[in-house]
Amino acid sequence: MLDTIFSPIKIGTIEIPNRLVVPAMVMNYCNADGTATERYIAYHEAKARGGWGLIITEDYAVDPKGRAFSNIPGLWNDGQIEGHAELTRRIHNIGGTIFAQIYHCGRRTRTLLIGSQPVAPSPVPCSIAQEIPHELTTVEIKEIVEKFGASALRAKRAGFDGIEVHGAHGYLIAQFMSLYSNKRVDEYGGSLMNRLRFPLEIMANIRLKVGKEFPVMLRISGDELVPGGRTIEDTRAIAMVLEEAGIDAIHVSAGTDGSGYASVPPAAVGHGWITGYAQEMRKVVDIPVITVGRITDPLLAEAIIAGGKADLVAMGRASLADPDLPNKAAAGNLEDINFCIGCMQGCLGMIAIQQPAACLVNPTLGREEEMRTHPAKAKKRVFIAGAGPAGMEAAMVAAKRGHEVHLFEKEGQVGGQYSLAAIPPAKGEITAFIVWLRKQLADTGVSIHLGTELTEEIVSREKPDVVVIATGSAPAPLNVPGLKGHAVTAHDVLEGTVDAGQRVAVIGGGMIGAETANHLAHHGKRVTIVEMLPAVAQDEQAYVRLFLLKELAEKGVTIYVNATVTAAKDGGLVIERGGKRETIGPFDTVVTAVGLKPCNELQTKLEGKVGRLLTIGDAASVRKALDAIAEGYRVGLEI
Ligand code: SF4
Repeated sequence: MLDTIFSPIKIGTIEIPNRLVVPAMVMNYCNADGTATERYIAYHEAKARGGWGLIITEDYAVDPKGRAFSNIPGLWNDGQIEGHAELTRRIHNIGGTIFAQIYHCGRRTRTLLIGSQPVAPSPVPCSIAQEIPHELTTVEIKEIVEKFGASALRAKRAGFDGIEVHGAHGYLIAQFMSLYSNKRVDEYGGSLMNRLRFPLEIMANIRLKVGKEFPVMLRISGDELVPGGRTIEDTRAIAMVLEEAGIDAIHVSAGTDGSGYASVPPAAVGHGWITGYAQEMRKVVDIPVITVGRITDPLLAEAIIAGGKADLVAMGRASLADPDLPNKAAAGNLEDINFCIGCMQGCLGMIAIQQPAACLVNPTLGREEEMRTHPAKAKKRVFIAGAGPAGMEAAMVAAKRGHEVHLFEKEGQVGGQYSLAAIPPAKGEITAFIVWLRKQLADTGVSIHLGTELTEEIVSREKPDVVVIATGSAPAPLNVPGLKGHAVTAHDVLEGTVDAGQRVAVIGGGMIGAETANHLAHHGKRVTIVEMLPAVAQDEQAYVRLFLLKELAEKGVTIYVNATVTAAKDGGLVIERGGKRETIGPFDTVVTAVGLKPCNELQTKLEGKVGRLLTIGDAASVRKALDAIAEGYRVGLEI
């Protein structure tokens, strides 16, 4: 069934063994001087072992002033070559194929990061960095062209199998190609051919230095998805010109600065949402076309290629969630694939704050060595209370290492509160992670005791060596006069144990409250949110929040911010905001979502009574799922 994705294809002179590609993704694993680290190399080795046909590295800066992130790689000087040559040697030893992406970010950076004013075709600020850039002179343009060529040559000398020139996502090449950012009135501005002068000079310089045989690809946004930006019609024409100029493949993404989520879309955006752009390219070029864009499943990749939409499929975050995806797919073990759920917590969420990338469903990402499972020195009897994701992760890892693991869950199914997080619109993919964990528990021989709460009595009778408390958290109470007995929790609503009336108030507009409000509004309820902070859902990742706010607005959800509920009376709520008191409502149902409190009563009861007692996840302190799951994994390794 997956024959097409496992057929080889040539990019220039190189044969790629299958159609599954790791695209460039900023991971922030390198040293600040752009040299490689062991962490950076190990991260790529995991991909090569996993069977990806082609690995494209994250952006190698051609100039230290052309970096948008602090710890990305660089090839702007010869001293950087050796560390990256070690990377390519190790990837080749595994049998992998690796291209270096090279780039200059132009205006998409900040003075604070690069130590000087960002540069651009025109002095127009990027919507993200918000700094007026220096308008490049013709001499400076030629210098950057030369830097692209020199970096391409260093990539070749470092042993890369080819390069990808980054012309997408509003970076410098894209800035020149688009009227959105290029307002020049010289030979680099105006007509399409003039705007292509910069990438064409770069391609010519690269070819001069690396020769005709070395594969060179271009990444481009099919459509910039901003008013006044480049459209797919422009991009088709550009592809034809650049094919003529000698590129060996084209990799079609979307977006620029200003189009928000387009280059890394959240779960609210459909799978394979921009394959149409690749299909348009295939109509006008004869070189291989790579598509990308929230393609998480090999079945989807197969359908895209077999359907003639693209020649190769890049699966970025899917490769972060499960670096072994190709091998598992090739072996027919689709059920073993740990799918990306589009949460954005670990990848973009961390990169956005200039931290190393992580992954919610794969705590080993970027910690391949540190988190390697090793057999336990002595087999222990491990009891884990709570089958939420932290407890399940700890159980899986401990069992893999050879321990006898018993997982106790008082409810009738695994997943804990995280199952509830999957209920609101656009959150359904979360279930895939819980299903995957459940299968791993079965495969590793964990004994799951559903409908059984781990108690002091069980522990004193069975005498386990280790007890891990992963009992999660529960809704925090809200003490407001008149509310007692007249409110339900967001958990009740999401669990489906309460049928809310038509007019609903949600007290608390954090992530849980806002998602619950969206869920209710989606089912036709008239919803009002009362939030004490100046905005709702501030604890959501920015792009996830963007879609959530849009949905709340479209569904007519009324939002009161900077507002505190002081009383409940006659079905309505008394709120205070801006020093004024008013009554809103009446409501048929009042839902509270004012935070969570740890559930760890068992900890006090067991202290001093077991050899080793550990409390993890929300039971220790309420935190993001990303951190709770990583902690579960770590504890599984330490037992
Ligand atoms: Fe996917 Fe979330 Fe992992 Fe990012 S952190 S790769 S969105 S599962």
